[in-house]
Amino acid sequence: MPELPEVELVAKSLDVLIKGRKIIAAELLRERLAPEADPSTFGETLSNSIINFIHRRGKHVLFDLDSGRTLITHLRMTGRFMLIPPERGNPKFSHAVFYLDDETRLIFQDHRHFGMMKIVETRDLHDAKEIKKLAPEPFSEEFSLKYFHNTLKTTKKSIKEFLLDQTKVCGLGNIYASEALFLANIDPQKLSHKISIKKSAQLHKKIREVLEVAIAQGSTLNVDPENIDGSYHNAEAETRWLVYDRENLPCTHCETPIIRLKQGGRSTFFCKKCQR
Ligand SMILES: [Zn+2]
Repeated sequence: MPELPEVELVAKSLDVLIKGRKIIAAELLRERLAPEADPSTFGETLSNSIINFIHRRGKHVLFDLDSGRTLITHLRMTGRFMLIPPERGNPKFSHAVFYLDDETRLIFQDHRHFGMMKIVETRDLHDAKEIKKLAPEPFSEEFSLKYFHNTLKTTKKSIKEFLLDQTKVCGLGNIYASEALFLANIDPQKLSHKISIKKSAQLHKKIREVLEVAIAQGSTLNVDPENIDGSYHNAEAETRWLVYDRENLPCTHCETPIIRLKQGGRSTFFCKKCQR
């Protein structure tokens, strides 16, 4: 599942590829992708609008349109965008198709069917329920150490689950949460409200660091327009992660075998010696 750095890359890539293009027509092929719009409204609302720019909030990719509307999209597990030439047919699991004025088609494809789209008035974007509940962006001033520490204090969940909760910290998923906890030497099972000021400062710093490093590794130059899913580093991922997906492998710091456990239905990887 793409996390903030991958979604950032998807948004940037789309911005480079289709900013300024006009959507001639739009087709919603799988109704449940956009449950709040029936296919004819979806098509009518989006057609004949120019894409001003494409940006991101949390793990949502946002298409800002000159019609005063924004298309909110979420890739979830397996969603991806594909920009394909006119002669090519729609691939399997095409759930939405946008016909662009240069005759290419932007397709939203999703074989696991968890993706989401929604059209809102841009002026109401921040009040849309998907966006409104999100925590401040990790690189914003609002995501201050004070905010982070105060939010930790009011939460009794484990710190790992806290980091995955998009209303508390926005943009982290299973991978970057595990990595940040390792770098901050914090046991993922530790309860959020019991984390010391010193440790919370460390974690706050490491969250920004892991995201920053990952964002820096994504380049829109390497993105295949026919496969815009943010997976720019998957090939190297296994050797790159410090703890994630390293069950039983030696800790990169102390050589203790990495442990995997389930938290909130998700796997957590950690070193019981380094993380306390
Ligand atoms: Zn270790």
